[in-house]
Amino acid sequence: MTAFEEELYAVEKKVSAQLSDGRFQHCLRVSDYARKLAQKNGVDENQAALAGLVHDYAKERPAEDFLVAIDRFHLDPNLKNWSRAIWHGVVGAEMIQDELGIDDPAILDAVRLHTTGDGVEMPTLAKIVFMADYLETGRDFPGVKEAREITNKSLDRGVFYQLQHTLSFLAENGNVIYPKTFTSYNDWARHFAE
Ligand code: GDP
Ligand code: FE
Ligand code: FE
Repeated sequence: MTAFEEELYAVEKKVSAQLSDGRFQHCLRVSDYARKLAQKNGVDENQAALAGLVHDYAKERPAEDFLVAIDRFHLDPNLKNWSRAIWHGVVGAEMIQDELGIDDPAILDAVRLHTTGDGVEMPTLAKIVFMADYLETGRDFPGVKEAREITNKSLDRGVFYQLQHTLSFLAENGNVIYPKTFTSYNDWARHFAE
């Protein structure tokens, strides 16, 4: 095994210990999909595979863990008004650094942004994890085929597609929408206007 394969394997064991089998399998599929998108988009495929593997590391932690971590890592206290759907990325990134020893800032940023996306300045690795999470082979929602085709042609168009559809879905269901989800959407909508 290469040094990277050994690292990936060690991290896999730690991720699987934190998650239900179904969620762990999702992480493996996101890792594979991220590797493919990295090859297409000129990003280091090992870096993308590792980022995909860890993106939901904190997804099953109790709320109390996140509330403690927000103080411990000196994150914005307003985050406490949100929920695990938002915390597992933005707070989860700190847990990944602390508990898995992953220090690559690009990987940590990709985890931070994987639920809300970001504006057009979003780093390519973060776009890849955001899209791999949405498109991994186990995903089956109306439009997933179209979303995969769009993303194969243009990663940026894929990011906008996901933001558009997630925003509509959240609003249709009467969910509270995190401000960053709006600002990400608006930035891309302006970018692609006309
Ligand atoms: P997952 O962790 O693989 O399930 O995927 P994500 O991290 O992308 O999303 C986690 C959950 O957060 C999903 O149910 C999304 O619909 C939801 N979500 C995404 N954006 C927002 C938002 O702005 N507000 C709220 N309340 N939920 C959101
Ligand atoms: Fe997630
Ligand atoms: Fe995920």
